[in-house]
Amino acid sequence: MDDKPTDYPFEEMLKAAQAKIDKGMLVYQKFTCSGCGARLMIPEPNEFHGEADCASCGAWTNIREQGCNYQCMLVMHVGGGNGASEGQGYDNS
Ligand SMILES: [Zn+2]
Repeated sequence: MDDKPTDYPFEEMLKAAQAKIDKGMLVYQKFTCSGCGARLMIPEPNEFHGEADCASCGAWTNIREQGCNYQCMLVMHVGGGNGASEGQGYDNS
């Protein structure tokens, strides 16, 4: 149906994801489990796997063959590490 997630060929996804990484973004690989159909995400940012297993059903998915997608997050550069909302108004470019 219409709510199926879109997946792209592995190599195509890698290229698009690499462009995001080059801009300083964190990219998480996403794919659909071939066993139970769950939408899964690789927990490590900027790591891309050709195959991966499912925490729910244990099935291995051949991501290279099946295709995948990604989700990217903009990294906020927070100095110091104490207090999350410090540095408001600074331009980090
Ligand atoms: Zn599964």
